[in-house]
Amino acid sequence: MEKIQIKDLAFKIHISEQEINQRITNLAAQMNVELAEARPVFIAVLNGSFIFAADLIRQLDFPCEIQFIKVASYHGMQSSGKVQELIGLNISIEGRLVIILEDIIDSGLTMDYLVKELAKAKPAQIKICSLLLKPKALKVPLEVHFTGFEVGNEFLVGYGLDYDGFGRNLPHIYQAVEPTKE
Ligand code: 5GP
Ligand code: MG
Repeated sequence: MEKIQIKDLAFKIHISEQEINQRITNLAAQMNVELAEARPVFIAVLNGSFIFAADLIRQLDFPCEIQFIKVASYHGMQSSGKVQELIGLNISIEGRLVIILEDIIDSGLTMDYLVKELAKAKPAQIKICSLLLKPKALKVPLEVHFTGFEVGNEFLVGYGLDYDGFGRNLPHIYQAVEPTKE
């Protein structure tokens, strides 16, 4: 088992590059059927979703747009629970189908905030697409229309997800390993 070290933490592979690619191909195939006529605007949440968004939309074969926004940053191993301002939405989404692209939904507070903020711009509908979902960590009810993988509450890095800024470049998704178990 490939182990890596980022700062003070050891990580092992949780979801391999191959599994990620396969799942994204399936998600794209589903969207190619469901969204073919919808002309959606994808709104990818920076920083974490940049790789997922890039891999997903290149497999979509219908007309669509993509925009990038930013909300609260994530520091250390626990979600702060504090949500900052939404920045970067510089197009009108009025009357449009919006698909939010996220790397991971943990407590769901960021997504809940985002949905409420975006709703103020009067889209026809908002759908959520998250590569990763931690169902046991959810603190608010959320309907996630497209989910890549359901995971436990372990801390993950790689494939866009960071630990204190590092690890986004890793091709696999890794989980933190308890130091005592090693
Ligand atoms: P939420 O508001 O749902 O609690 O947290 C959402 C944000 O927290 C995600 O967009 C992500 O930036 C960060 N986050 C939650 N869980 C993890 C994790 O396991 N690893 C990393 N790297 N970030 C996470
Ligand atoms: Mg994120």
